[in-house]
Amino acid sequence: MKKNKIILIGTHNNGKFKEISYLISKDIKKVSPKTLKIKAPKETGKTFQSNSELKANYFYIKSKMISLSDDSGLEVSALNNRPGIFSARWAKKYGNFYKAMKVILSKLSKSKNRKAKFICSLSIKINKKKIITAIGKVNGKISKNIIGNKGFGYDPIFIPIGYKISYGQMSRTQKMKIDHRNIAFKKLKKKLKSNKFFI
Ligand code: IMP
Repeated sequence: MKKNKIILIGTHNNGKFKEISYLISKDIKKVSPKTLKIKAPKETGKTFQSNSELKANYFYIKSKMISLSDDSGLEVSALNNRPGIFSARWAKKYGNFYKAMKVILSKLSKSKNRKAKFICSLSIKINKKKIITAIGKVNGKISKNIIGNKGFGYDPIFIPIGYKISYGQMSRTQKMKIDHRNIAFKKLKKKLKSNKFFI
């Protein structure tokens, strides 16, 4: 069995860093690119998978450490699956996440279709040659209002299927039991296990 002691969590987003760290074994030290003064790469991919792989490769080269990165976002069905890979960029474009959520709610004001899903692609670069990726999805709907002040990003407008509350109303542990990142992580762990690699 190969047990790794240190992993770079390739994200500059504090919310994601906490959530990803929480999923990984306590025995492993988690390092942030901020601590190592490594800047974020340009996200030039056209899919969640190409972006998470691009980031894991980039951080591996920069840090010379095993690197785990994600690319994630919210796809809103009535908006042709936007913001999707542009989820973070929409917040910049409109000023902040609160404003971006307001934009989504207003775009949907006359729509009967409020279907949405959160997607997460997680990639881990474990050596020069090997990168492993897994994808997690959670279906749900966009709420009528911004509800809840927990979590981060678009959490307060997303109600996962089977629930009456938004991600933004859930505690971290409650959200993380069911969220897209956790689903991707469980799949990734399985794939890693078959490569005799444990995190
Ligand atoms: P990126 O993967 O760094 O490009 O950023 C993805 C963006 O999607 C984040 O900045 C958030 O806006 C959004 N996002 C991804 N996962 C979540 C989540 O679990 N809750 C809320 N927003 C999320």
